[in-house]
Amino acid sequence: MTRPAGSATGLDSGALASAFAEAFQRAPEGVWHAPGRINLIGEHTDYNDGLVLPFALPQGVSVAGSRRDDGVIEVRSLQTGGTLVTAPVAGGPVAAEGRPSDRAWAAYPVGVARVLREHGTGGASLLIDSDLPQGAGLSSSAALECATALALCDLHGVEIERPALARLAQRAENEQAGMPCGPMDQSASLLCTAGHALLLDCRSGLSTQVPFAPAEAGLTLLAVDTRAGHTLTGGEYGRRRAECERAASLLGVAALRDVKDLAGALGSLRDPVLRRRVQHVVTENHRVEAAAGLLRAGAPAELGAMLNASHLSLRDQFEISWPEADAAVDAALRAGARGGRMIGGGFGGSVIVLTATDRAPRVRDAITTAYAARGWTPPNFLEARPSPGAHRTR
Ligand code: ADP
Ligand code: MG
Repeated sequence: MTRPAGSATGLDSGALASAFAEAFQRAPEGVWHAPGRINLIGEHTDYNDGLVLPFALPQGVSVAGSRRDDGVIEVRSLQTGGTLVTAPVAGGPVAAEGRPSDRAWAAYPVGVARVLREHGTGGASLLIDSDLPQGAGLSSSAALECATALALCDLHGVEIERPALARLAQRAENEQAGMPCGPMDQSASLLCTAGHALLLDCRSGLSTQVPFAPAEAGLTLLAVDTRAGHTLTGGEYGRRRAECERAASLLGVAALRDVKDLAGALGSLRDPVLRRRVQHVVTENHRVEAAAGLLRAGAPAELGAMLNASHLSLRDQFEISWPEADAAVDAALRAGARGGRMIGGGFGGSVIVLTATDRAPRVRDAITTAYAARGWTPPNFLEARPSPGAHRTR
């Protein structure tokens, strides 16, 4: 059994349990699922100690697992051909069938096992399956980490509160996979609930559930995979982070979150690049608060204006949009969508579009037509429904 990344046929925990039995010659003790996420608004605010507003997708990563007591973690993924990767949880070399490049993905589950070991978990055999596209900005990496984390905790009888578990999964991605991400993705995967977005304060770690059920309001939220790849471990993400840190230090604040007087801050910074970065981060935090307020007030359609403002800020102030994203947002708006914006780290991945449901087919067609006119690979669409956070399925 193999399943290509992003094949949206839904995950079946019974089939995964059978595949586990075939792969490891014993029955799994359980199956755990962790969703991918879409961040409605609040882009590049997380590592500035700011606010984000993600919700969980129906799609995600499932892990079938059984405990091992010899301190070894062995993992297979149906998205990488099922080849075996083995590593001592205590650290040391990662061994794999096939080429060394075939094992890079295992840094995520092995990293989680290594970080959680300090909290009392140990080895395990894990089989991974996913219906989430990888590298599309929907956070398959965090889904993989969080499903692994839940599996390891349950298998070893370790109880960790979810906000703390999210921080540990984030640490695994930072330290073991070498990706300096903020806490949003793992928090979203572990803390989101169906029919809600999660207003997360990335400084305090405190979060609140905000009602978000687009379908009930006659709205559709489309995630459009722009089919332009991203490599977040590439330099641009780190560069933006460093610029934000430098601006904060020049402004004498702990993080850009603390800038209260935007005009004053912009006036005191000499570097035009840093001014643009500060403008984005500070205004984006305000947009998150406004968006959460609109959702609480029961006015989800009004989010469109916030999405549009966010996109322009990411394009012009943070300078991380890409041609396919700009074209998709532009085509959607011309077809009557309420709003749209690029999501994720930038330079590739997905765009979200909020539209009245009865206009959704027209909006999709407009984007597809815009792509065809430019000779680009057709985009993929996914209807994003706010879904439950990580849980045991079997
Ligand atoms: P995103 O989180 O936006 O999908 P990332 O680059 O952060 O993009 O993470 C994608 C990486 O996560 C993949 O390149 C792969 O290493 C790993 N990954 C995600 N899902 C799976 C899976 N089902 N099996 C194996 N590796 C996976
Ligand atoms: Mg990721």
